[in-house]
Amino acid sequence: MLQKLNITRLKGKAISILNDEIHERDNYKCIIDGCYNNIDDDEKFHHEKRNGLKNDVIQEGISLCYKHHQDRHFGDNSKEIKRQCVTYLSKIYPDYWKDADIDG
Ligand SMILES: [Zn+2]
Ligand SMILES: [Zn+2]
Repeated sequence: MLQKLNITRLKGKAISILNDEIHERDNYKCIIDGCYNNIDDDEKFHHEKRNGLKNDVIQEGISLCYKHHQDRHFGDNSKEIKRQCVTYLSKIYPDYWKDADIDG
């Protein structure tokens, strides 16, 4: 089934509220296995894109510590971090993630 593409982009206050909501959902901890570092309030959440398009929604937001956030974008283990992010989000939002094009 084709889903309509809805792009949500937030700014300013709205994005910082979303940031807080994501950190709160993740108990202010990095979600990577064996890490669980505390996340500072001002650490920005990571966007895991569902279909190659960035959406400012809680279903695509995830808490990573600074190190793992860097790793997710620039590390040799980027793919593994991504896998863990997608697995984590898919457990919480199975409907949202079930048709995801995660290799894109
Ligand atoms: Zn990121
Ligand atoms: Zn971490």
